[in-house]
Amino acid sequence: MKKHNFNPGPSILPQFTVENTAKAVLDLDGIGLSVMEISHRSKEFEAILNEAIALFKELLEIPQGYHVLFLGGGASLQFCMVPYNMLEKKAAYLVTGEWASKAFKEAKFFGELLEVASSKDKNFSYIPKGFIIPADADYFHITTNNTIYGTEMKKDIDSPVPLVADMSSDIFSRPVDVSKYAIIYGGAQKNLAPAGVTFIIIKESILGKVTRAIPTILDYRTHIKNGSLFNTPPCLAIYSALQTLKWLKNLGGLNAMHKINTEKARILYDEIDRNKLFKATVTSEEDRSIMNICFIMNDEYKQLEEEFQNFAKSKGLLGIKGHRSVGGFRASCYNALPLESVQALVNAMKEFEKMKI
Ligand SMILES: *Cc1c(COP(=O)(O)O)cnc(C)c1O
Repeated sequence: MKKHNFNPGPSILPQFTVENTAKAVLDLDGIGLSVMEISHRSKEFEAILNEAIALFKELLEIPQGYHVLFLGGGASLQFCMVPYNMLEKKAAYLVTGEWASKAFKEAKFFGELLEVASSKDKNFSYIPKGFIIPADADYFHITTNNTIYGTEMKKDIDSPVPLVADMSSDIFSRPVDVSKYAIIYGGAQKNLAPAGVTFIIIKESILGKVTRAIPTILDYRTHIKNGSLFNTPPCLAIYSALQTLKWLKNLGGLNAMHKINTEKARILYDEIDRNKLFKATVTSEEDRSIMNICFIMNDEYKQLEEEFQNFAKSKGLLGIKGHRSVGGFRASCYNALPLESVQALVNAMKEFEKMKI
């Protein structure tokens, strides 16, 4: 049976990425060695790294003055590296979910923190509006897509201070105006590559403004100077990332990808809104994520949740269990998830409704 992979992360990757990585694990471009067995300073790996950086810049149209880094440690290490490098006195955070809360908590080690707004009062089911970013903050931190709660800031906001964004789960899902950001970072395992590599897009001119001493490996300038080769980077995951970037380019880039993602999300939200058994946890269309689509059963059908979970599994629909803090279901519709998988989920929802009502 065909499997439909709605896992939240690590998650579905393009077949192109999986197959090319499998080949390169056995033999990299006919050199007789695995991509896992060569030096990160070899000319072969340097070509892989350089091409990945070049494609990253091309697809996101990254302006001059920015660097792209591929490091280890996950998005979670960035929760601490960002304030280490940028927080001198005070930083402002928008608290829109569990990851945003973790980023906020970590930054407290480094200075005064201001929670500009939070959506915790309604279990993070919306994006706060009308908040004021203090002009004296060293930076303002946002999480553009809240993977667990299914909300997303789909437009690039204006900020009077350097804007820092965790884009772990919506990078490459849409075009981004990188010039509005000082730093964009994320773990690759949602929309780009297997776990292990973290991407950081960083504007060089924002660095060097804090007075504290920064350990060498946690200083962004170290990695800029060494082109992500200060120490051994996650070579295999970078190879896979390159494959996904090539796949994105072949598909027509981020405008094309965004169109497909919007269509997939529309089809699924339409069915959630129509189906008598289900309801979306995020009600405002503007705030609804096109990557992670969260829904629960209407109160009178709550007891059917487990049954639907098993019904979905019997149809090859995998990974749709909601996070424990939301419950119900979450369909992660990342770039690589085909429209056909969304259609299969919608069909299962319709069929289940017919069985029950
Ligand atoms: C998954 C996720 C993280 C955590 O990433 P790690 O690479 O596991 O540290 C952080 N932020 C967001 C938005 C995520 O979706």
